[in-house]
Amino acid sequence: MIEITALASSSKGNCYHVTDGKTSLLLECGINFKEIQKKLDFQTSSIAGCLVTHEHADHCKSIKDVARAGINCYMSSGTADAIANKHHRIKTVEAKKQFTVGTWTILPFDVQHDVSEPYGFLLANEAGEKLLFATDTFYIKYRFNGVTHLLLECNYSLDILDENILNGSVPQVMRKRLMRSHMSLENFKEFIRANDLSKLEEIWMLHLSDSNSDEARFKREIQEQTGVPVYVP
Ligand SMILES: [Zn+2]
Ligand SMILES: [Zn+2]
Repeated sequence: MIEITALASSSKGNCYHVTDGKTSLLLECGINFKEIQKKLDFQTSSIAGCLVTHEHADHCKSIKDVARAGINCYMSSGTADAIANKHHRIKTVEAKKQFTVGTWTILPFDVQHDVSEPYGFLLANEAGEKLLFATDTFYIKYRFNGVTHLLLECNYSLDILDENILNGSVPQVMRKRLMRSHMSLENFKEFIRANDLSKLEEIWMLHLSDSNSDEARFKREIQEQTGVPVYVP
């Protein structure tokens, strides 16, 4: 059974802990390592790996400390180059080539963000569960079957963004950047419609913008659309 703990989820920092009861992993390390240790009751020695989607600090802030703690960190070579840390625990993996960490089989895939080589990850375990993790991408061009746990960014909704631009609280230039780098509620819904989610058990909506989102509404609308529990950490 997959257990998910969100340690942080916003543009200030992202970090999630997932375990299938046998192998535990970190998804991102965008907060201080001390904070990660504290939030996991100092049980970090059992962490088998850390998956990093891209080089923005809110996703990899503590990578040096995580590597130094003896945890293998997996990412694209573009991300590793951008992070520019040569620690032997930093491992590069290729898109669409599976690798294993303990009981997890992990498939990295390319996503759409304004950085060099960002990834999303599909994680499958021995119990047949599948966790899809993607953040900081305005679109996902792939389709997935049998996902049981969906962890996907939902940064903003277009109507709230446009309202904020109209009243001057968000600069106009932000619109273009967001639309080509982050997931909107509209694209989130479209992704759900386009995929086989017949096995879906739960959804986590990640990385909500402070100003361009509405947590209660996002949660309600996705819950209505899918009928499964929705968590907004
Ligand atoms: Zn981010
Ligand atoms: Zn980013």
